[in-house]
Amino acid sequence: MNIGFIGLGNMGSGMAANLLAYCQREGHQLSVLDINPAAVALLEAKGATAASSAGELAAASEVLFTSLPSSKEINALALGDAGILNNLKPGAVWFDTSTNEVSAWEALRAQAVEGIDLVDAPVTGGSEGAAAGTLTMLLGGDKEVVERYRPLLESFTKRAVYMGPAGAGYTTKLAQLHLNYLVAQGIGEALMLGAKAKLDLNTLYDVLNNSCARSYVVENYIPKVLDGSYDRSFKLGLAEKDMRLINQLGEHLDIELTLGSVVYDTYQKATKAYGFDAPHLSVVRLIEDQSNTLLRE
Ligand code: NAD
Repeated sequence: MNIGFIGLGNMGSGMAANLLAYCQREGHQLSVLDINPAAVALLEAKGATAASSAGELAAASEVLFTSLPSSKEINALALGDAGILNNLKPGAVWFDTSTNEVSAWEALRAQAVEGIDLVDAPVTGGSEGAAAGTLTMLLGGDKEVVERYRPLLESFTKRAVYMGPAGAGYTTKLAQLHLNYLVAQGIGEALMLGAKAKLDLNTLYDVLNNSCARSYVVENYIPKVLDGSYDRSFKLGLAEKDMRLINQLGEHLDIELTLGSVVYDTYQKATKAYGFDAPHLSVVRLIEDQSNTLLRE
């Protein structure tokens, strides 16, 4: 089977490497594409083939994966004569692992010719999970197609969960991210309470992490605030995009996301202050700057 993978960034590089190992065991071929030549070279060195364009890759792929920043890049690669949609052959399946918006994906699905399947397949578990092959994938689309490719999907994830028809994967991902970002801003505020009251922040972390407030975010993000790195494995601008999509989905479903709108505002301010490529926990740096207090010794 010929498989294509577009987007070899923090997430895509790990997923493609694990997929490549599976392809090499099973006799499949993996071709990859990214505008960053260094990212392509890393996969080529492991045995993947470098593709020259999205259209060429789509034409040659029975299964195509994408891991791209947002709908802007996805649409740019998907549309036009040389785009993915125009070049996928009938019978091909496109799994988009990006965190994308349901309406943009619907518009692409409407333009796909008969016989091509588009499945939303966003992932959760971070870049460390992508590298370790322990991601959870959330799938929306034709159930029969998902089940047909389950062994392939589970070759680079720990769990591939079928969530429902098209869009259900993205919607699940946005619900998960909603909680993730609320808690990320929350850890900044909780630590600031401790810092201003002169508590020892390492002891406070230990208490939070062994209390009913414990979560993945508390356990894994607080150390990256306390060491001042703010977690380089995920870009602040992508987190801001996610908060925008969460609020758009709330509007679409006619839900008032009181916390969602406040947290989106914070991520917008942080992205304005520190830039798109800043580490995502710069949202806590904003709280530090506003309080004139660093959350570390
Ligand atoms: P990233 O910015 O590190 O990677 C994106 C990659 O896409 C880059 O290598 C970039 O060069 C490539 N790219 C951009 N435009 C391209 C084009 N026109 N043609 C080919 N390649 C192109 O982002 P990431 O952190 O890997 O995230 C990818 C997606 O996964 C995003 O939608 C993000 O929201 C989502 N996500 C990220 C994480 C995380 O922890 N990093 C976790 C879950 C989901």
